[in-house]
Amino acid sequence: MGDYKRPGRPKRQSKTSAAGAGWECSVCTFRNNQGAYTCAVCDARKGTATR
Ligand SMILES: [Zn+2]
Repeated sequence: MGDYKRPGRPKRQSKTSAAGAGWECSVCTFRNNQGAYTCAVCDARKGTATR
C-alpha cells in the first residue's frame, strides 16, 4: 500500500521528555529509575496510588 509518513509532521508531545525512561511516582511525583520497583524518596510502590 502507499502508506508513507509525511516529513515534518507535528508529533504529539509527551508529558515527559526523558525518552520514556523511568517512571514518575504517583505520590511525590519523583522520577525514579526504570528498574526501580519502589520510589527512592517516599518508598511508594510503582503504579500504586496510595495517599
Ligand atoms: Zn515517591
